[in-house]
Amino acid sequence: MSVSQLARSIKESPTLKLNETAARLRDKGEPVIHLGGGEPKSKAPIDAVVNCASQLNTGDVKYAPADGLLALKKAIIRYMEEHYHKVVAPENIVVSSGAKQSIMVLLYAILEPKDEVIFPAPYWVSYPEMVKLAGGVPVVVTPEDGTFQPTVTEIAEVVGPYTKAVILNSPNNPCGVMYSRDFIAEMVELCEKKNLYLIMDDLYNRLIFEGKIPPNAYDFARDHTDHSKLAVVQGVSKMYAMTGFRIGWAVVNRELAEAMTNIQSHQTSGPATPSQWAAIGALNGVQAGVESLRLTLENNRNVMVERLRAFDGVQITKPDGTFYCFPDFSAYQKNSQKLAEFLLEKVRVVTVPGKEFGMDGHLRLSFCGTIKDVTEGIERIQWALDPDAPNELYLGERKLVRDWL
Ligand code: PMP
Repeated sequence: MSVSQLARSIKESPTLKLNETAARLRDKGEPVIHLGGGEPKSKAPIDAVVNCASQLNTGDVKYAPADGLLALKKAIIRYMEEHYHKVVAPENIVVSSGAKQSIMVLLYAILEPKDEVIFPAPYWVSYPEMVKLAGGVPVVVTPEDGTFQPTVTEIAEVVGPYTKAVILNSPNNPCGVMYSRDFIAEMVELCEKKNLYLIMDDLYNRLIFEGKIPPNAYDFARDHTDHSKLAVVQGVSKMYAMTGFRIGWAVVNRELAEAMTNIQSHQTSGPATPSQWAAIGALNGVQAGVESLRLTLENNRNVMVERLRAFDGVQITKPDGTFYCFPDFSAYQKNSQKLAEFLLEKVRVVTVPGKEFGMDGHLRLSFCGTIKDVTEGIERIQWALDPDAPNELYLGERKLVRDWL
């Protein structure tokens, strides 16, 4: 074998692979409905496009500081004041090529070999692989009561001598649940007491429904010095629908920011400058797009949840935010990989198996597409699984006849 042991231990990103599968089938003219996606349909804000394009027109595209352009850091400082009531300095910010890289560089900067990083299930698919890439050991906490909200006791129980950090993602990809205020408050307290890094992956916290307010971890911190181990990760991908620009950032203490910058300087030399210009435009520009995306997603969520509730045997927890829900299909099929393959093969609906997020029996269904995708996608899934459904279904011109169940 010519690749390393580390490389062999890392799985490919199932969500990116599904995007490829969906695109390939669509190219072949297959009537695919993609409920596996992780990006809003809307366009990047016009202020992002204009700021990027006008700078690009100068033709002057050069290396920038490895930790990000000062103008972008200034925009992030304003963002942190507005949304977290937190005053930070440019030296506390590291801009990376997506929030994915922010988390990756952060882990490289804090983990010793075999250090443990705790996160609750269901979790974002990349956490276990990122922790392993950085030489650490992922420790998953699955809520015992069958909900998606872990308890602080469950997390405290697995804290040991090798624990270095906890990652919390709220609202959560894949289940859409926003952790409670009390939980976040107690987690901040626990991590301060045990001297652990607390990494708040807040990527979706502008996409929350019904006026709910995301708990702000800084509100509960006692340590406001520059030694604080509280880290906030954010980015433009989801809230501004700018996934392709690949800009995310971490707000951390100065020592950690410096370490992360050193690492990043040898990895990428910093994120692409045109993408940073776009992010500056988005952060400093008109913010109406975020609210309109949020409203569209809330509407889509309502439709998806309503359809799923009419579906016997499917257990559904209503998402508080994000653009995912994570119903339990185990009454139909306990093996989520098999179920996802079945749905793709039979009715051409792309879903993501819950196994990838640490919870088998579930599927992640995205509602970031059109309402038509949501309604037709759920209809097809229901047709495929419900033995009482009519024997035939039309996908456009194509007639499907059920030859299973
Ligand atoms: N964290 C979570 C929970 C995510 O869902 C994603 C993207 N799917 C990321 C981080 C990474 O986002 P980015 O596109 O900014 O790298």
